[in-house]
Amino acid sequence: MVNTMKRSSVDREKLSPMMKDYMILKDNYEDCIVFYRLGDFYEMFFEDAITASRELELTLTGKSAGLEEKVPMCGIPHHAYSNYIDSLIEKGYKVAIAEQLEDPKTAKGIVKRDVIQVVTRGTRLDNNLDSKNNNYIANIYDFGYCKGISYTDVSTGEFYIELLEQDNDQIIREIMKRGFRELIVNDAIDRELINTLRVTYGILISITKDLYEEDDYKYIYENIEDIRLITTIKHLLSYIIDAKKGDLHHLKECEIIKRNSTLIFDNNTKRNLELVETIRTRDRQYSLLWLLDKNKTAMGSRYLKNQIENPLTNKKELERRYDFIEKISTEFIIRDDLRLALDEVYDLERLAGRISYGNLNARDMLQLKRSLNALPKINNLLKQLNYDKEIDILEEVASLLEKTINEDPPLSLKEGSIIKDGYNSELDELRSISSGSKDFILNIEKVEKERTGIKTLKVGFNKIFGYYIEISKGQKHLVKDEYGYERRQTLANCERYITKELKEKENIILGAEEKIINLEYKLFMDIREIVKRYISKIQEISKIISEVDMLQSFSIVSDENKFVRPKLTKDKDLELVECRHPVVEKVMKDKYVSNDIIMNKDTNILLITGPNMAGKSTYMRQCAITVIMAQIGCFVPCKSAKMPIFDKIFTRIGASDDLVSGESTFMIEMKEANYAISEATENSLILFDELGRGTATYDGMSLAQAILEYIHDNIKAKTMFSTHYHELTSLEKDLKNLKNVHVSAQEEAGNLTFLHKVKSGAVDKSYGINVASLAKLPKELIKRSEEILNIYENKSIKKEVFTQTSLFEDTIEEVIEIEQENEIESKVKDINPLEMTPIEALSFLYELKKEIDKK
Ligand code: ADP
Repeated sequence: MVNTMKRSSVDREKLSPMMKDYMILKDNYEDCIVFYRLGDFYEMFFEDAITASRELELTLTGKSAGLEEKVPMCGIPHHAYSNYIDSLIEKGYKVAIAEQLEDPKTAKGIVKRDVIQVVTRGTRLDNNLDSKNNNYIANIYDFGYCKGISYTDVSTGEFYIELLEQDNDQIIREIMKRGFRELIVNDAIDRELINTLRVTYGILISITKDLYEEDDYKYIYENIEDIRLITTIKHLLSYIIDAKKGDLHHLKECEIIKRNSTLIFDNNTKRNLELVETIRTRDRQYSLLWLLDKNKTAMGSRYLKNQIENPLTNKKELERRYDFIEKISTEFIIRDDLRLALDEVYDLERLAGRISYGNLNARDMLQLKRSLNALPKINNLLKQLNYDKEIDILEEVASLLEKTINEDPPLSLKEGSIIKDGYNSELDELRSISSGSKDFILNIEKVEKERTGIKTLKVGFNKIFGYYIEISKGQKHLVKDEYGYERRQTLANCERYITKELKEKENIILGAEEKIINLEYKLFMDIREIVKRYISKIQEISKIISEVDMLQSFSIVSDENKFVRPKLTKDKDLELVECRHPVVEKVMKDKYVSNDIIMNKDTNILLITGPNMAGKSTYMRQCAITVIMAQIGCFVPCKSAKMPIFDKIFTRIGASDDLVSGESTFMIEMKEANYAISEATENSLILFDELGRGTATYDGMSLAQAILEYIHDNIKAKTMFSTHYHELTSLEKDLKNLKNVHVSAQEEAGNLTFLHKVKSGAVDKSYGINVASLAKLPKELIKRSEEILNIYENKSIKKEVFTQTSLFEDTIEEVIEIEQENEIESKVKDINPLEMTPIEALSFLYELKKEIDKK
């Protein structure tokens, strides 16, 4: 039977001293699974043990703790803890690691233990972190009338803050877009919001009101004036500092997010355009990020992702990037050299984090050294490319590491072999003592063999007895007292002895080795302290490397895929000639049909018609993707491109990721439409794919038309609107800034071929039945639908009621009759005879009669 003894049910007085200590420690970490270090193991007790054994598939056992019954327990070997922690935090748990703070050999009473860090999804600093993605932890501080959101990546030190309005939808949009997986909130926050984030979106949430009030990390918010921003930062800082406990001075000064300096779009747009992952498989492969990522460093890849999620609006900065790409694209040799040099650069940003926090080893130091060694060459190449920034190559750090760190150090810092010879004279001396004595011992075997004449005599070493002389059983009678051999151990086939001299040398060796290990550790820590002073410089280097890497990647991708430099215009001309969807093109190779997207300053709306599957949504997507590529400073998939700088993009394409929220598709569609029309400006781009199709035909069509009119008259944003309501194409007559285009298809003998070519004007036919037949619906059903279509077209009347009537029961004529009867009935229902004058009543009756006669 499983032991389910609860921690709260235990009489603490009866517990063993160690378990009492555990209970006190655990009281402070109720919401964590506590890994309690005991010798070579981390052990978990009570509920923690039950949870961990279930989640990690460990055996649940019991530990005697002074009670009659054993307490539930499970354990893991200390050296394997990181994979176990990974798996727990991925499942949404927090883990508190409690270490022994004293050496058990020298401690009096029970060994002192305390939590040295809490590991959560958002505060990881280990080597298992995904190098191509940032790992953010965020907080929301609710002030009642607005909310502060700040977030940081503890592994790289980036720190950002912004203020948002009270609107929950906006908060959710922001959180989803930035991909936060752990959130800290204060207790003023709306419970419903927390619930949605937790349950619907699976975000790990902790509630705390604590604010950081010390001075150590004041620099993070020192230059910020708004007290709301400062409070929000302090709230997040308090949580992180409490969790990590170590030195976090690599955290950078907090940057205020300026909304108008980036191109804004929400998570739906990010998803629908498949910017960083595909919709179906959520894989990076076949996303825009995948296409553009030819970075050599992890920093470059992360920066690219960050830029795709936050494109720029600053023309000068964009032109600067284009200039560099243009230059580097003509200098193949320099570009190749640069790529080779970048290959030598490790993840400096995360190394800086580890240097500061202290969890780096000698191999990390070597990575730092190799990275620094690559910098002079990179600098030189950048100069040749007229790049406008120079890297500080930190010569002094590079030469320090060159002098000190061994080329092949072990992972652990407690095994020695970290520091090179010649750096520290004390270390050199200890090493020569140790190795001199080792030579001496090796020599003893020869000397003793000669002295005693015992041929099988050997010198050996084991951990328990140290150095010994071993003599086989057959020859042990040859050992004489005068040799001074002391017997230590008798084995089946030999005897082991020690001598005074042997023990003396052994003491020297072991003493020296211990001293070496301690000294090397101390020297390493000293070096780390020196390097630590350069953290902000290392972060600056990282920033430049990230940018340069991303730009060389753009240059490679642009060459490979024939992208061109866009021309950014001040007026509102959008002219994308022979534009392609870069990812679809890449996957399809040569078959992709390019299309122009032209919206000059007098055209704001393109109304796109064409059969299903013709390529309407791809056409719209490629426009948005081209805009995003241009606004991250990349060349674009066109033959030539002219465009204004956009401030926001809104899309309503394909399925929404809000399906989880339990609202109907149509409701979500309308909410998204509302979000777009309330936030869009004349500098925005709106893509609406068959808006209104989620409701009955007339409803949908009327809404679509009203939305088009509204955008046309009030917003004036560049808008692409695809529809299969042909009736809408007549709007071109009334709305002067709206233009019809259609994606063409060819019909021959009932067979439909998609040409994917966009032409001006409206399409004449919807081809829905052809597409249905391509989808292999039963032949008789297709035939029947053609018959019905004929009737519709002949009557040239399309009533919504048809779509709701079973196609195989009523005849069309009957249905029309019922519909007309209903119309008259509803007119009568709408009037109140008591409020009508006799004349009005008479004229109403006359109207009705006329209508009935007409039929
Ligand atoms: P619609 O929105 O009109 O139903 P889609 O944009 O979803 O059509 O396109 C349907 C399919 O046609 C896509 O999966 C794509 O493979 C192909 N396609 C779309 N545009 C093109 C194009 N310009 N060239 C070649 N194939 C295309």
